[in-house]
Amino acid sequence: MKTLHRKVRKIYLLQQKKGKLVEVDKMIKHNARKLYQQQLIDNMVVSLKRMKKRSLEKWTKYIHRWAKRKGWWEFPNSPLEIHMKIVTEAAEATEEVRSGNPDVWFDEKTMKPEGEAIELADAVIRIMDYFGYKKWDLEKMIALKMRFNETRPYRHGGKKC
Ligand SMILES: [Mg+2]
Repeated sequence: MKTLHRKVRKIYLLQQKKGKLVEVDKMIKHNARKLYQQQLIDNMVVSLKRMKKRSLEKWTKYIHRWAKRKGWWEFPNSPLEIHMKIVTEAAEATEEVRSGNPDVWFDEKTMKPEGEAIELADAVIRIMDYFGYKKWDLEKMIALKMRFNETRPYRHGGKKC
């Protein structure tokens, strides 16, 4: 914490030298938060390095097992509900960008990861859970569609966006 404080102080002095007119308290808090967030991300990256690597198939099976264990399949949703829940994760990603939040950040009270990248990961998690439920092979489906996509013309024949 001391190092963090020193780093914050250094940043403050540097910015003061540059003649930036900022409110002291607000800026120190802002910089402390930025550093704290960076430390959380760094710690998370270190702990994730120890996590075992999984194939798409293993992720799909693991995520579906986890979802069942957590009660999400006690009353199975209809395909339409599942599709909409995937869409809501994409909408959450949109809101993260609209709010100008970093790609990944942590709620400091709950330590829940947030951000555009996390919300899109949520969408993938929901898709994988459903693939696990349907016993579909995600890797094969991606390969099947990409093989066709490769044959499509530039911008699929003139699509604007
Ligand atoms: Mg989400």
